[in-house]
Amino acid sequence: MKRVLITGVAGFLGSHLADRFIKEGFHVIGMDNLITGDLANIEHLFPLKEFEYYHHDVSKFIHVPGELDYIVHFASPASPIDYLKMPIQTLKVGSLGTHNCLGLAKAKNARIIVASTSEIYGDPTVHPQNEEYWGNVNSVGPRGVYDEAKRFQEAITMAYHTYHGLETRMVRIFNTYGPRMRLNDGRALPAFMGQALRGEDITVFGNGDQTRSFCFVDDLVEGIYRLLMSDYHLPVNIGNPSEITIKEFAEEVIRLTGTSSKIVYKELPKDDPKVRCPDITKAKEILGWEPKIDRAEGLKRTLDYFKNKV
Ligand code: NAD
Ligand code: UDP
Repeated sequence: MKRVLITGVAGFLGSHLADRFIKEGFHVIGMDNLITGDLANIEHLFPLKEFEYYHHDVSKFIHVPGELDYIVHFASPASPIDYLKMPIQTLKVGSLGTHNCLGLAKAKNARIIVASTSEIYGDPTVHPQNEEYWGNVNSVGPRGVYDEAKRFQEAITMAYHTYHGLETRMVRIFNTYGPRMRLNDGRALPAFMGQALRGEDITVFGNGDQTRSFCFVDDLVEGIYRLLMSDYHLPVNIGNPSEITIKEFAEEVIRLTGTSSKIVYKELPKDDPKVRCPDITKAKEILGWEPKIDRAEGLKRTLDYFKNKV
């Protein structure tokens, strides 16, 4: 049985990845320190003998007994309000945490995939963003703690590949949504759905003209799994190129929920990217991957989840 370590396993994406690896017949070793995660996301895995859980901060030395075939490093605060609240932990898990995971991968002769992000493109001047674009990040701005940690993560992962010959993969994840997001994590979708379900005003930041491209979690997990199993070591964008303004997105949530909530406009956070859309040519060519679940379907499935949480 192949063995995989998943860091950030109790989070939104980590828990879905754990489900996928279990389904593929892996032994999954999950690790988390629960700073933004929730054991409820993985409680269904605890009875399985194919699953073990370690409560551990991966920014500290990681010890895992036995062999490892793969490491999936997803630990990190990911929502802007989380990483603004925990700037040092965010910088540490992207740098020291990644270094520890790479060291462990080298010691165990394991292949590693690290969770990078569309945020490494910052407030982009190239649109849509392809992997050759180097980005436009304000290192000392509020989002710099996340963006620069992830940029360092890519640089050190590349160095372990070229210097140590480690088998590395890097996925640049664009905005993803679905069941197991935290209603109060501050990201647009849970914020809008929570407000709609409670009949509160929907808070659109700025004038709502900024764009994002939202990918349903099942599509993302498929792309990540294919990338890990591929032989491609350079970064690959995984996201849904269907781009929408945040105002239109809020209107979609209002229509779907049938709420009487109205949109109110709040101040746009500093350095909030004006546009974001993945160029997924590489994912299509190298992985034969493209998203299958459109927003209408994905939002419906997500709403079913949130209905029981409000
Ligand atoms: P999340 O907050 O739901 O999950 C992150 C998990 O990591 C949590 O369970 C948290 O407790 C854990 N964690 C954080 N620091 C840790 C540490 N030092 N040691 C051990 N565990 C730690 O976030 P998510 O949306 O699931 O994101 C997962 C990964 O994907 C992150 O690396 C994030 O940067 C990346 N990503 C996510 C998105 C997205 O749209 N969700 C987009 C781009 C990149
Ligand atoms: N946003 C918003 N209202 C909210 C939360 C977010 O208008 O209550 C906006 C935010 O300013 C950004 C977009 O929605 O332009 C997506 O924000 P999110 O935090 O989901 O992700 P990111 O900015 O990291 O892409």
